[in-house]
Amino acid sequence: MQDPPFTAGEDLNPYRIAQQQVDQAARYLPHLRRGLVDFLKQTARIVTVDFPIETDDGSIRMFTGYRALHSRVRGPGKGGLRFHPDVTEDEVRALASWMTWKCAVVNVPFGGAKGGVACDPRQLTTNDLRRITRRYIAELEDCIGPNTDILAPDVGTDAETMAWIYDTYEMMHPGRNNLPVVTGKPLDLGGAPGRREATALGCLFAASRALQRGILPGRDSLKGATVVVQGFGNAGGIAAQLFAEAGARIIAVSDSEGGITDRCGLDIPLVVAHKEKTRSVTGLPGCEPIGNAELLLLPCDILIPAALENQIRADNAAKVQARCIVEVANGPTTPTADRILFERGIPVLPDILANAGGVTVSYYEWVQNVKMEEWELEEIHAKLQKKMEHAADAVLDKQEELNRSLDGLVPASRRVEEPGEPGSQPLPRADLRTAAYVVALDRVAQTATERGVWP
Ligand code: NAD
Repeated sequence: MQDPPFTAGEDLNPYRIAQQQVDQAARYLPHLRRGLVDFLKQTARIVTVDFPIETDDGSIRMFTGYRALHSRVRGPGKGGLRFHPDVTEDEVRALASWMTWKCAVVNVPFGGAKGGVACDPRQLTTNDLRRITRRYIAELEDCIGPNTDILAPDVGTDAETMAWIYDTYEMMHPGRNNLPVVTGKPLDLGGAPGRREATALGCLFAASRALQRGILPGRDSLKGATVVVQGFGNAGGIAAQLFAEAGARIIAVSDSEGGITDRCGLDIPLVVAHKEKTRSVTGLPGCEPIGNAELLLLPCDILIPAALENQIRADNAAKVQARCIVEVANGPTTPTADRILFERGIPVLPDILANAGGVTVSYYEWVQNVKMEEWELEEIHAKLQKKMEHAADAVLDKQEELNRSLDGLVPASRRVEEPGEPGSQPLPRADLRTAAYVVALDRVAQTATERGVWP
């Protein structure tokens, strides 16, 4: 485990945060056996690979990659591959665990996994990235497979990377259908129509449902809502486009270089064109520049963090002026920030619900590949909408159910036994993240119980 990063007295280690989130939910499920919860909190397997690459600048450089399998209780491991300089073992463990809970929230029959290589794609050529991808996949040997652990895109990787993954795996296992080993592939290589925009579209469906159900009093749709998006990549950039098309006013966006803002609303197709030309959203004529830290504090209806973990923390949560947060990124809000936001009445539509559209359409791609079928875009969008709305309803219903039953108890009875501290912890009203984890943990625990502890 790496040294824990601490900021403002807060533990920002993503794996410990992921485990705390499970513990928090387990308090609302007193029937679960403690040992079972301990099992479901742990990474089942983590593989580390160190390998050399001869880069285009003529040097030989070492890279470290990880593949974590968190759980296969409900199906094969499923999770993206991240290329980013800050990738660590604990980040990959956390991301793998969030995949397990996400798949359970949307009821997709996968477990959780994730991979990462510590590298900076902006400093590497396409050839370098292809060699890194191929060597990483070759080093993983049979730790991945179409029925055991399936990859997908994440930060710093895209459909082209997925094509290299498929091609490498196919070279290693000729003569069988290897298409389902990776999703998010190009369309002509077994990719699903709609996968590129699936995370953002799923988020739009979940957010629209939550608005219809009244999470923001006085605003029951995206029409006219002011929206701020941090991170303008595959997930956040497309979310900005789709939310704008649904009638929202996108008043600020950013990427790793910085942000831009316009209170009257940014012209998102112009931002996209500018980013394609210059590789950044910054510097678009006619907009005000804004820093990433400041952007998170802009007054708006919906703040969409769509970059990396730990953006909304103990040190800035009290200053957030958004009326609600919709998490497209994985892990952007820390547990302390969650508490502060909940006390301030700012709902957070959690990552394991709001960004689950990506894995949902990945599941459709996997089914297509296994059955050697081709599905239509309209069919995929309709299925995605249904899945996301059901999942949003399940989470919102669970929050209402948990809080209704708490409200029916006298405060002294709202206590649960914690290991080593019997009866000492009052059970707080549940936020949406807790409700989503309760839904997910209950489903995974039930399957684990039905299967029994092996041997
Ligand atoms: P991406 O690489 O396409 O885009 C990431 C974006 O974030 C880029 O615009 C980058 O410049 C920006 N960024 C990086 N550091 C930043 C910082 N400090 N401040 C502001 N912006 C910064 O990655 P992506 O696939 O869009 O993933 C973004 C987030 O969404 C990640 O948390 C990822 O795990 C999550 N996610 C992605 C998918 C998917 O299908 N791509 C699915 C579910 C969740």
